[in-house]
Amino acid sequence: NVVTRFAPSPTGFLHLGGARTALFNMLYARHHGGRFLLRIEDTDRARSTQPAIDAILSGMQWLGLQWDGDATYQFARADRHAEVAHAMVAAGHAYRCYMTAEELAAMRAEAEAAKKPLRIRSPWRDRSASEAPEGQPFVVRLKAPCEGATTIDDQVQGPVTVQNSELDDLVLLRSDGTPTYMLAVVVDDHDMGVTHVIRGDDHLNNAFRQLPIYRAMDAVEGGWPQPVYAHIPLIHGSDGAKLSKRHGAVGIEAYRDELGILPEAMVNYLLRLGWGHGDAEIIRLDDAIRWFDLAGVGKSPSRFDLKKLENLNGHYIREADDERLATLAAAIGGRSVDAVPLIARAMPFLKPRAANLNELSAGAEFLFAFRPVTLDEAAAALLTDDARQLLAAAHAALDAVHNWDTETLDAAVRRVAEDAGVKLGQLAQPLRAALTGRKTSPGIFDVLTLLGRDESLGRIADRMA
Ligand code: GLU
Repeated sequence: NVVTRFAPSPTGFLHLGGARTALFNMLYARHHGGRFLLRIEDTDRARSTQPAIDAILSGMQWLGLQWDGDATYQFARADRHAEVAHAMVAAGHAYRCYMTAEELAAMRAEAEAAKKPLRIRSPWRDRSASEAPEGQPFVVRLKAPCEGATTIDDQVQGPVTVQNSELDDLVLLRSDGTPTYMLAVVVDDHDMGVTHVIRGDDHLNNAFRQLPIYRAMDAVEGGWPQPVYAHIPLIHGSDGAKLSKRHGAVGIEAYRDELGILPEAMVNYLLRLGWGHGDAEIIRLDDAIRWFDLAGVGKSPSRFDLKKLENLNGHYIREADDERLATLAAAIGGRSVDAVPLIARAMPFLKPRAANLNELSAGAEFLFAFRPVTLDEAAAALLTDDARQLLAAAHAALDAVHNWDTETLDAAVRRVAEDAGVKLGQLAQPLRAALTGRKTSPGIFDVLTLLGRDESLGRIADRMA
């Protein structure tokens, strides 16, 4: 049975790449009816923070990336990691290394002089325990294989081979007894029953260092099958360089809190960023679960494109429930829940053009403006003397309208334009300016009905000649 996991280090917010890794892991598990687990890799005590953990959890919840069961916290499992390392020592698959800092430095200098990368094979690898110096500090090192080669049949990268001579005897336990990252990941993945490791391809090298730990433990106690690996290419910025702050927001929460993106649009975008299913662009979560496979993950890095994200966002805004959008827009505008019904009524007219929730919120502002409505520059420019005369005529005509509905208003406004010998637009533009303070808004008859009779007449009166 398939078990996947997302294993973020809580040293910063949930970034786009992490969210996509989590998504792929969730989709793979759901597609196969398996489990999707969350592990917080908080072993780096200096850099792991509670706010970062909270940001990761809330980002995942916002995107609907619900993990199964409780999250595992890696630091809390340090004793278990040490236990495994000691079992490996006892069985001869790892050893205590008493090399001093000076010896290590000499080894490093030697490698540098020979222009070779440092591959640590400690002299303690082959010494017997009886030679061990009494009371000296030691680290525990893996007895890594020296001969042959290791091939990983990566589900995204294809088969990748590394010569074992290139692997070193990596440290499993530090001299203070704490586990290294390399050990912790393997022990946790094993204990959590992880069958598929899907993560960024910046971890591909680590897989070659982690596999020998599986093999050693499988030899020691059995039941340590190696997982299936899938290393997915990283996300790059629009210029092809690795995604970073200068390409725009990299933290997921900025897309929610600042850029006004809907979670379903974000998920659809992240999914398409590196995975494809024919030429489908709009892919809802149900379909994604039905279709997801590792074969559809591309081998080359994908480029982040905010315009595409906003296009998708616009699509999902038009599909979304008006009440929900109104609630989100009200929150952005700093309005109370009392404002939601009116914004919801305006929503059918606001959402056709909006690319994000900020635009919806800004578009709804006119509903709550106080008289006299503040005019933006473009609106002010529309209110010429001639326009104010037209507004006076419109006011008189509208004042006589008692059925304040779109059809009646439409007929009345058209008649005013006809009588004045101008095109409808020549009257509609100043009307819009007077009613909303802006040059763009929903259709003028929708604005009139949303504002109601008294407010509309008042706003026109404020600006007419
Ligand atoms: N904690 C690692 C990271 O955030 C991921 C480790 C893994 O997926 O194996 O990059």
